[in-house]
Amino acid sequence: MSDCLFCKIIAGEIPSTKVYEDELVLAFRDIAPQAPTHILVIPKEHIASVAEINEKNSAVVSHIFEVIAKIAKDEKLDGGYRVVSNCGDDAGQTVHHLHFHILGGKKLNVEMA
Ligand code: 5GP
Ligand code: ZN
Repeated sequence: MSDCLFCKIIAGEIPSTKVYEDELVLAFRDIAPQAPTHILVIPKEHIASVAEINEKNSAVVSHIFEVIAKIAKDEKLDGGYRVVSNCGDDAGQTVHHLHFHILGGKKLNVEMA
């Protein structure tokens, strides 16, 4: 997707602070952190949102969650952390490439909505 911000980050056309990378996924620090640790984990394949996950592309999602657990350990988020994926306008999704926020490093607000 040539006009997708996160595809451009994957391609190295836009710089990012990488935390983890393998053949399937990339993790990098959010440019506007909402918590002391705020990392985005994305598939290298362009998937627009959670709504676009299906039986053909869902394997990367389980891999993403393995990567999230590894990153959380590496980042020493021992007190806990939150994983969030905003899907669609009502959830406030601003970048239409599937991404999972890892938020931690402080006591997070409990409100979910
Ligand atoms: P969403 O609102 O779609 O769930 O999350 C998109 C996230 O991408 C936001 O937290 C925003 O700060 C982050 N973001 C937007 N543009 C950039 C960028 O150019 N670089 C990085 N590292 N993060 C970005
Ligand atoms: Zn994309």
